[in-house]
Amino acid sequence: MNNLILDKFYDVKILSYECELFNELTKEKKILIYCLSQAALCGRDILWDQNFKYNIEIRRLLEKIYLNLNDVNSKVDKPFVDYFKRVLFSNGIHHHYSTEKFIPEFNRDYLLSKIDDLSDDDILKITDKGITFIKEELVDILFNQTIYSKRVSQNTEGDLVADSSNNFYSGVSMQEAELFYRKLREESDTKKSVGLNSQLKSENGIVCEEVWSLNGMYGKAIEQIVFWLNKALSYTENSEQAEWLKLLVDYYTDGDLDTFDNYSIAWLNDKKSVVDSVNGFIEIYGDPLGIKASWEAIVNIKNTEATRRTEIISENAQWFEDNSPVNKNFKKDKVKGVSAKVIDVVTLGGDCYPATPIGINLPNAEWIREEYGSKSVTIENITKAYHKESLNNGFLKEFAFSEYEIELNEKYGFIAGNMHTDLHECLGHGSGKINDGITTEMLKNYYSPIEEARADLFALYYIYDQKMIDLGLFNSIDAAKCEYSNYIRNGLVTQLGRIELGKDIEQAHMRNRQLISKWCYEKGLSDNIIERKVRDNKTFFVINDYEKLRDLFAELLKEVQRIKSEGDYDAAKLLVENYGIKIDYDLHREVLERFKALNIAPYSGFVNPKLIPVIENNTVVDIMIEPCTSYIDQMLEYSENYSFL
Ligand code: ZN
Repeated sequence: MNNLILDKFYDVKILSYECELFNELTKEKKILIYCLSQAALCGRDILWDQNFKYNIEIRRLLEKIYLNLNDVNSKVDKPFVDYFKRVLFSNGIHHHYSTEKFIPEFNRDYLLSKIDDLSDDDILKITDKGITFIKEELVDILFNQTIYSKRVSQNTEGDLVADSSNNFYSGVSMQEAELFYRKLREESDTKKSVGLNSQLKSENGIVCEEVWSLNGMYGKAIEQIVFWLNKALSYTENSEQAEWLKLLVDYYTDGDLDTFDNYSIAWLNDKKSVVDSVNGFIEIYGDPLGIKASWEAIVNIKNTEATRRTEIISENAQWFEDNSPVNKNFKKDKVKGVSAKVIDVVTLGGDCYPATPIGINLPNAEWIREEYGSKSVTIENITKAYHKESLNNGFLKEFAFSEYEIELNEKYGFIAGNMHTDLHECLGHGSGKINDGITTEMLKNYYSPIEEARADLFALYYIYDQKMIDLGLFNSIDAAKCEYSNYIRNGLVTQLGRIELGKDIEQAHMRNRQLISKWCYEKGLSDNIIERKVRDNKTFFVINDYEKLRDLFAELLKEVQRIKSEGDYDAAKLLVENYGIKIDYDLHREVLERFKALNIAPYSGFVNPKLIPVIENNTVVDIMIEPCTSYIDQMLEYSENYSFL
């Protein structure tokens, strides 16, 4: 284990990120960050419960057992400790990426004996349902392969809702859910994202919503979030920032989705602030119907210097839109305010912790994006941490075909990767328009991978454009070649290292990457654009013609935009099913063996730095920042201090 890695278990490694910008801030801004960070941590239990209704009780059970261990480093208990770490990492008992339930490597008797060692007081703190419930129901949930086996089902032959063990729906079928929301959408006189912030349940045969708000479901956690958001209001930088904070508090208070849209618009209007935050029910990847959002939070500081890069891109957004290979009917006549910036995160929470995105583009509401634009960020201190780690672990030496590819990566890997994220977030997601009467829900579970493919293709198409050099973003087209090689290598080979042998690809971003790479590989076969080479029984995909590959990206972008604009479910299904899901078994086995030999964990997560208030005369006067050195200590601390459900 090199010194950049704090912890390692199963397919995961834990890194920490640096936040150098923090110490340059004024005390006011530091305290603002502190308040927003507290709010970002207070919703942790919401996500745990959304992921699965017994997750919080299971976590408490595992914590009590862990704290009861005589020696956490003992060999006998290692399978338990690793499992515990894995559950903490996944915010529940299902894999954070594949969403499949993972089964412990210790046995039932081991667990039952550990439960017997717990005190009555411990049991009471785990659940009010008693020890029989723990020993019979919870234990069975952990070990029984056949129940609650998937958090998000993608099997369209079955009932996507009933087959998913997330907690977004309770006792309703897919048909009931679709009917309910179709009706609600028809009745609504605004374009709000109906169903985004509620559980849909069946009560005495009547289907109804339980809204996540101050006086509704998750109210106890939301009360804490609101408390800290209100505190933050005393330290805001300007009136625009205060405006969205107030609306966010209003929205959490009444759960009204029109208020949420107003908040999103106000948040977009805040372009000057150095400190920013996302806190709420945001992304819909966890719902196979693409309606309900998982809770997440992120607090960040604008990196003014690096932001110049994204400002150049967004200033030219209209040029990029006008010149894209997309059918002109699907282009925006006027691209509205794509505001882009580069940020350093200070605190990650909810669905962004410990596994985090490297870029974000919000809001998600299609109508707001079209009328008001979107805010897009690239998270540079996270990508920096990834890059630093990747230079040391032998990964490229193993998976790159030639010295040429390795050299390209050393020279351009960091900047090219960031540029891809900038283009993906800042232009890709915000580009294009959809036909009247079409909604994104029409593509159902295929929407997410199709939307990610659209954003990636936009980025891939433009990263190889002369415009990048003309704008001073790159000094050589070699940077684009670097990105092409890295993308194809990842899409066809290295990302397979994240998946268990014999399993399909489940996660939307991964489906998208294979979809694009495989489609281009197959389309380019006759021209030998991407060549499959084998050396020492190791497989590589080598790009022979970068320009022609770019043409293929253009062709696919055109089609994927059409699919989104027309809501063409059948075409989306065909593309995703044919290219994005299935894996060549022999290649998969080879890749896993190569990863194993290198001893690299394919997934990463992060711990947050610690923010410590300096208190004088009962008031917070300053905030100190300290690196966190232990993954498990941070997790236990969060459970101790931020568990409200
Ligand atoms: Zn994206």
